[in-house]
Amino acid sequence: MNIHEYQGKEILNSFGVRIQRGIVAHNATEAVNAAKELTEQTGTGWHVIKAQVHAGGRGKGGGVKLAKNLKEVEEIAGDIIGMNLVTPQTSAEGKKVHQVLVAEDVYYPGDSETSEIYMSVLLNRATGRNMIMYSTEGGVDIESVAEKTPHLIFNEEIDPTVGLLPFQARRIAFNLGLSGTAFKEMVKFVTALYTAFEKSDSSLFEINPVLKTSDDKILAVDAKVTLDDNALFRHKDYAEMRDIREENPTEVEAKEVGLNYVDLDGNVGCMVNGAGLAMATMDLIKQAGGEPANFLDVGGTADAKRVEEAFRIILKDEKVEAILVNIFGGIVRCDRVAQGIVDAYKNLGDKINVPIIVRLQGTNADIAKELIDNSGLKIHSAVEFQEAADKVQEVLS
Ligand code: GDP
Ligand code: MN
Repeated sequence: MNIHEYQGKEILNSFGVRIQRGIVAHNATEAVNAAKELTEQTGTGWHVIKAQVHAGGRGKGGGVKLAKNLKEVEEIAGDIIGMNLVTPQTSAEGKKVHQVLVAEDVYYPGDSETSEIYMSVLLNRATGRNMIMYSTEGGVDIESVAEKTPHLIFNEEIDPTVGLLPFQARRIAFNLGLSGTAFKEMVKFVTALYTAFEKSDSSLFEINPVLKTSDDKILAVDAKVTLDDNALFRHKDYAEMRDIREENPTEVEAKEVGLNYVDLDGNVGCMVNGAGLAMATMDLIKQAGGEPANFLDVGGTADAKRVEEAFRIILKDEKVEAILVNIFGGIVRCDRVAQGIVDAYKNLGDKINVPIIVRLQGTNADIAKELIDNSGLKIHSAVEFQEAADKVQEVLS
């Protein structure tokens, strides 16, 4: 589950990670009050107004702006709230901004002693260990650093049985070229950050930038935090941070009816039982020259009701030009699924406006094929996996 920057910073702060302080606001008046309150706390009169949406690259899209006085806070917050923010990480329509973070300005103008560092904590699936990835080249263009000068990005791998060791935190501070107070502050920062990562059951922290101020403070200016859904039962307070306005509406709806659905860019809708078979199906569609429109695992019990719900969800996507149903009847009998498909087709009537290719394999597959073939409906049946993928291409061309 992804959360907003301000929520990520709250979590970091609760584990002693120093952050750029801020207060969230939902309209221009709230923003002005937030700025006043912050000035009382921090003494700084300048503020940064930051759009809170689940997408990075906000600075590039005009969603992060400096306000030098309260009038500017009011104007900028008023402009940003309600806008559709388009960034390199959103779709062309962008994301609607419902709230901003009014944050203390932590950059001192013209200060060459300030530096932006990149730091993330994530699981390296290849080694099965967490790692801290970091670079002196933080800021808004880390993607091009990774592409053009990958040697400027360092990794520190952490043994899960012993956790982050003090020498590792020191190595990070050293590789970042820090000394004196900044070095010590970085060691503290990294240590607290790693503790926060483990204790919060997060799957990703991306702090870009971590700022070294001219007076040698180290603080998180940005926070992209992804929490592990499977651990949310342990963190009721984090679970409440969910903002479903930021999520794909069809994916939210699918989750509500218990379907495992991920929206993708292609034109071939897929309905499959089992995550592994769903992935194999997507591979085969691609191999046959097509592009999957979604990942959809209907689960073990592919009965008529679920099949119908799955069709409804897939058909919401206007890009879908054909649907491939690929079911393996292991736990569930193929003839029951076939009956489910036929019933769902009849119930949905003219809502089904694209060709459907069905491949059922496993228990009673032959009876299932007969059911489909004799249904009188416009469903193409296939026996072999490859045959099914080829039929999809046939109906599309
Ligand atoms: P992102 O663009 O979505 O990654 O949002 P960030 O939170 O990283 O902010 C983007 C950029 O805004 C940062 O890289 C900084 O250069 C700038 N920025 C953020 N906070 C401040 C601040 O307090 N003062 C100034 N002057 N710039 C800031
Ligand atoms: Mn950032």
